[in-house]
Amino acid sequence: MLVMKFGGTSVGSPEAMKQAASVVGKMKSRYEKVIVVTSAMAGVTNRLIAAAKAAESGDLSTYQEAQKELLALHMSVVEKLITDEYEQATLAQWFKDRLDELGRLCQSIAVLGELTPRGLDVVSGLGERMSAPLLAGVLRSMDIDAKQVDATRLIVTDNSFGNASPIMDTTCEKCRQVLVPMLESGTVPVVTGFIGATKEGIPTTLGRGGSDYSASVIGACLDADEIQIWTDVNGVMTANPSVVPGARTLPRLSFTEAAELAYFGAKVLHPKTMLPAVEKEIPVRVLNTFDPDGPNTLISKDGATDGSVKAITAIKDMSLINVEGKGMIGVPGIAARTFGTVAKHGISVLMISQASSEQSICFVIPSESGRLAVKALEEEFARELARRQIDRVEIMENVVVVAVVGAGMRGTPGIAARLFGALGEHGLNVIAIAQGSSEANISLVVTKEDADETVRRIHEAFDLSGTESGVSATSANRI
Ligand code: ADP
Ligand code: ASP
Ligand code: MG
Repeated sequence: MLVMKFGGTSVGSPEAMKQAASVVGKMKSRYEKVIVVTSAMAGVTNRLIAAAKAAESGDLSTYQEAQKELLALHMSVVEKLITDEYEQATLAQWFKDRLDELGRLCQSIAVLGELTPRGLDVVSGLGERMSAPLLAGVLRSMDIDAKQVDATRLIVTDNSFGNASPIMDTTCEKCRQVLVPMLESGTVPVVTGFIGATKEGIPTTLGRGGSDYSASVIGACLDADEIQIWTDVNGVMTANPSVVPGARTLPRLSFTEAAELAYFGAKVLHPKTMLPAVEKEIPVRVLNTFDPDGPNTLISKDGATDGSVKAITAIKDMSLINVEGKGMIGVPGIAARTFGTVAKHGISVLMISQASSEQSICFVIPSESGRLAVKALEEEFARELARRQIDRVEIMENVVVVAVVGAGMRGTPGIAARLFGALGEHGLNVIAIAQGSSEANISLVVTKEDADETVRRIHEAFDLSGTESGVSATSANRI
């Protein structure tokens, strides 16, 4: 059994949707049982979120514009790819209903003058609730028996709106109940990615880019043979190809390496995608919808042990916080209190730098939490600040964490010398360094201005465009 997930660009236009459907057709002839998970059409989720935010500030014209444009966008696919009149009319009505729902939601948001995370989840999930029935319709028009399934019926989550986590046992039970009978009768379920619902039925989302996670949750529940992530690039590459033009497809990665890359900003995979797959040891393959027979990446338990540095990623919009003071040395528990305070406010820490002395504690958090963290720490350490045991709680905004990833890195001598040599040679300043969250990662903090150049120079220093550390693109996997 195969789970195939299509990203926003892969269903973003009539041509893309047709291509995605033909890839499903091809896989259906190879695997008897196929489940499709789809994202919203490219740009739709952003439009929905913008409409809700505008409504919060009393602007109602943004949602009205969005209603018109989103109807036209979805109908353009119907008009180009679906000829059956009944299907056309049913889909048109479905889109109108969803967009009316958008209107009602935005009006209530405007009246209240408040957009809650719970309200935002209802709005932002509407994109998938339009793309899934549309893709199912396109598949039927190609004589593939397909039926849309709303994931609020399958994926049961906690109530962390905007970033919900699936409750696996209940989710798996529902997946079996709903999807297995469909698969047995030869139907392709087309499931909405990104969304779920609490056990009380309140809609939630799994975080931006969360459709990848939806696919791996469903794949793990049903013991899929493989989870395929179909996107707009040839798999996971040595760096973001839009930053490093010479980036190359990585044919094989371990679960740890892929998780590390995703966590540190390789947008091609949602950071939590690997979690359900690892547990069941289900291979995850990342492929290009627009080059289905081209190079792709297979992520599995073993990955590949060849090479040392495999890939470079960057995660933007970060803040570096520094708690500093000469008097800190003798005071016990400063580190525990620092991270305790940050945790109490639900702020996640991406990296902690190993300072050479005890005079400072330095860590990186997402920018949006920067000010909150400083305020909370100043309150926590009010007494130490007054006594000058701590001199200051500093913040450096707009920094970028560059992560160098590769499972074989630790055992290979000279990596750090090569890395810092390359940066020094080009005058790139490293603000902080840390061994990442696993052995497969070294992370550096640099300024926003230096970020892309740093990624390119490290890519070059380890010859990642060449063949030194891996397999060339021509000998990469084929499916
Ligand atoms: P989808 O809509 O299919 O989920 P995303 O836009 O979420 O696609 O992710 C694919 C994009 O991720 C690529 O177009 C590329 O710009 C970006 N990306 C960042 N880092 C990497 C990487 N290491 N390998 C491949 N793509 C990457
Ligand atoms: N449509 C959602 C988003 O834009 C989920 C996804 O694309 O995976 O974040
Ligand atoms: Mg994505």
